[in-house]
Amino acid sequence: MTNGAVAQRPLRFAIIGAGMSGILSAIKLSEAGFDDYIVYEKAERLGGTWRENTYPGIACDVPSHLYSYSFEPNPEWSHRFAPGAEIQAYFEGVAQRHAVNERIVFGTAIDQAEFVNGRWNLTTTDGRTDTVDVIIAATGVLHHPNIPHLDGIESFAGASFHSARWDHSVPLDGRRVGVIGTGSTAVQIVSALVDQCGAITMFQRTPQWIGPQENPAFSEAQIEQFKEHPEIITMMRDEISRGFADRFSNAVINADSPEMQLIEAVCKAHLEDSVHDPVLREKLRPDYRAACKRLVISGDFYSAIQKPNAELVTAGIQCIEPGGVRTVDGQLHELDVLVLATGFRVDRFMRPMNVVGRDGLLLDDAWAAGPVAMLSISVPDFPNLFMLNGPNGPVGNFSLIEVAELQIAYVLELVEEISAGHCTQISAGREATAAFDAARKEAAKTTVWATGCRSWYLDADGIPATWPWTFDRFRQEMAAPKMDHYERI
Ligand code: NAP
Repeated sequence: MTNGAVAQRPLRFAIIGAGMSGILSAIKLSEAGFDDYIVYEKAERLGGTWRENTYPGIACDVPSHLYSYSFEPNPEWSHRFAPGAEIQAYFEGVAQRHAVNERIVFGTAIDQAEFVNGRWNLTTTDGRTDTVDVIIAATGVLHHPNIPHLDGIESFAGASFHSARWDHSVPLDGRRVGVIGTGSTAVQIVSALVDQCGAITMFQRTPQWIGPQENPAFSEAQIEQFKEHPEIITMMRDEISRGFADRFSNAVINADSPEMQLIEAVCKAHLEDSVHDPVLREKLRPDYRAACKRLVISGDFYSAIQKPNAELVTAGIQCIEPGGVRTVDGQLHELDVLVLATGFRVDRFMRPMNVVGRDGLLLDDAWAAGPVAMLSISVPDFPNLFMLNGPNGPVGNFSLIEVAELQIAYVLELVEEISAGHCTQISAGREATAAFDAARKEAAKTTVWATGCRSWYLDADGIPATWPWTFDRFRQEMAAPKMDHYERI
């Protein structure tokens, strides 16, 4: 459908979630002439992951000129990798400029979505109802904090919180701070806090490969140039995107590729060159392939962890006590603040919303063996419901904005089938979805993610639940739906 075209069959839409994908969906629906939509947002503020994650040091390790909407370049990014608060402000600005705010119902979570008589009946957690023709689920991936079951955690006498629930009322100056985890989040927190707190202790279950990164600030002159010549931003964006596709996405899907070996060599050299104490260096050295877990990118973590007030604890956690963390070697690590940088439950997607599809089919039952969707967008027997950044799509080190933009254009083509009156219901075909999922799982075997490590990429069967082909192939798939893969009624 071309921008500005008028829908032939009036359709009402619900967008669920006002994060990056939800804001994008609202803008693109308006542009396509679909004006009857509402955005349900459970929180009181938009922004999704950037609203929820406010921990010290938060930034996006995808370059900001790529981690922006293609239609809303931002000449004013302060750094190559902008801090989280700037990204949150960017989304708020975009939403305001495109009048998305007034379409958002804040503080309203959808409890149930049920497909009845060809439409979706929605019930909010406070008992309100709505009926829509199409749902766009923009509910995020890294969204549900993973709170580990650590013995005695409730007994801790200091402040304790998950990294995505940062309590800014807790003072940190001069305090003894413990951070459980070694993922991208923990690395950013430790790097940011080491000079502020009295002592910082990182509890490592598994070491991480860390790619080096410089984060230069853009000068005023550069920013002026971006403003005057937005085409420079477009060029930079294309170049970064191309580089990601050629060097990163092609590498990780082929564990034996020269590109993958290059990434590995860069990470190894980063460790060798940065960490001087051989004991600490060996503690930090992973015994699995680089990028098997989501690659951590940081230019300052190795320097932070070598500071005199930083400690890396590799003994396992036995329990939490009022005074701190006791490790299995019997030592008590005394702490005032304990941060759980322990990641997210990544198999939830739209849930805990109770989604009931055609003939009473529960999403929980359809996904009993794990989340499955055609190209991460559509689930058989859940007609006229489309996900952005749904299961098994490109995640990890990619720009999820780039991914979501490709997906929404594809979704609009599916919607066009209904709007144009070619059908009233459209959802991925069962056989086509099963074939897609089998091919995806087969392809995943040769990716670096399947080379033997524990990571959030892996599903319950240990199969990487992410796009296992090139990013170019993803682009091609998103260029136009193969309608024979869809069931249209
Ligand atoms: P994560 O990568 O899943 O890391 C969780 C960490 O917690 C791991 O080190 C894990 O250890 C540890 N852990 C979990 N349960 C534990 C337990 N019971 N005992 C001890 N350790 C435990 O989570 P994350 O760091 O929040 O990052 C999640 C994702 O968010 C990233 O991979 C990335 O995609 C995204 N992110 C992006 C950026 C960015 O700059 N773009 C920044 C932050 C996050 P194991 O490794 O042993 O499992």
